[in-house]
Amino acid sequence: MDKCSFCGREKKDTNLLIAGISGHICDSCIEQAYAIVQEESKNRTDLNLKEIQLLKPTEIKAFLDQYVIGQDDAKKYLAVAVYNHYKRLLQERDDEDIEIEKSNIILVGETGTGKTLLARTIAKMLHVPFTIVDATVLTEAGYVGEDIESILTRLLQASDYDVVAAEKGIVFIDEIDKIARKSDNPSITRDVSGEGVQQGLLKLLEGSVVNVPPQGGRKHPDQKMIPVNTKNILFICGGAFDGIQRKIAQRLNTQIVGFNANKEKEQIDQDNLLQYIAPQDLKSFGLIPEIIGRLPVLTYLEPLDRKALRSILTEPKNAIMKQYTKLFKIDDIELRFEDDALEYIVDKALEFKLGARGLRSICEAIMIDAMFELPTSGEKEIDIDRKYASDKLEKINLKRLKVA
Ligand code: ADP
Repeated sequence: MDKCSFCGREKKDTNLLIAGISGHICDSCIEQAYAIVQEESKNRTDLNLKEIQLLKPTEIKAFLDQYVIGQDDAKKYLAVAVYNHYKRLLQERDDEDIEIEKSNIILVGETGTGKTLLARTIAKMLHVPFTIVDATVLTEAGYVGEDIESILTRLLQASDYDVVAAEKGIVFIDEIDKIARKSDNPSITRDVSGEGVQQGLLKLLEGSVVNVPPQGGRKHPDQKMIPVNTKNILFICGGAFDGIQRKIAQRLNTQIVGFNANKEKEQIDQDNLLQYIAPQDLKSFGLIPEIIGRLPVLTYLEPLDRKALRSILTEPKNAIMKQYTKLFKIDDIELRFEDDALEYIVDKALEFKLGARGLRSICEAIMIDAMFELPTSGEKEIDIDRKYASDKLEKINLKRLKVA
């Protein structure tokens, strides 16, 4: 008589008995075995985290250096934060009393200086789920836009809806400055993109159990929510905070009035005021103190000067110039950029005030004809010098680039 080789039940006592080569298994043993497999794989994930060769902060920075030019300060803070994040996760199970608190980060820097690039690059080397979300799409519940909780939807998606993994993840919130309270404009009506959103965000940053709509967007009544605990999720926020330099300057000026005024003033680098940024400047800009308190690590990105822009063109691992060279090489065409052409591109990026973001659009404008014609023209090499670059760039409507 057929019976389960694991529990010994006879076929008639089971719902299903599956035959193997030299034995049988019943449905309830399959279920039990499945539960064991699940449990084991969960333990393995925990173990994996333990086995991860923790890159040390200097190693993390060295990795970032391959892709991002300059920004040493921001890199250092990020490296330490990510390293500590792992350490926190690993000590979770210890019974010691000292609990390492997470240190969410806020990065302040003009647009196009590498905030998102830093976040993306760090994502390449992470072993935890990671996502980038844009704060501009967030609104308070009740207004058009996405709910705060949708930030975590992305993280869930990044972890294939593995809640345990998502709860250890990292979220980069871009354009955090866009939810600042418009302090200059004390309107009686509620500030759609202001304080209410910040209050909502505060809940996520503080660490609480949040009901997340699995498909994101707006909540609707019959959607089943997934509870996610944000206690161990690391939040990295980035923003340009346009005009914050004025607030920094104001603060610095009032601080140094009178006492040793002249001496100290000389030491202030007026061209890069962001380096002096302090939490109270964020407050003057319109972030509520509670949010600032939950973002204890504050760091800044340098404006990109001529030298940095020049390096960005050629040095990073996937520098724009390397990408063009590779594109042409696939068609067996050798592409050469002369130094004066590179200088010209940098000049134009500075002139249009486009920062690093502009380098790519300027290059595209210069390269479009070559990319269009060379694959069929039979030419096997092309030299781009200053004259070639300026001829091409002048041909296209420069205004278009300026607003790009
Ligand atoms: P932000 O988020 O600060 O507005 P991004 O990180 O999106 O700026 O930068 C836009 C583009 O400019 C990036 O994709 C990258 O190609 C280039 N870039 C900006 N800053 C740097 C940098 N420090 N090093 C290398 N490339 C950079």
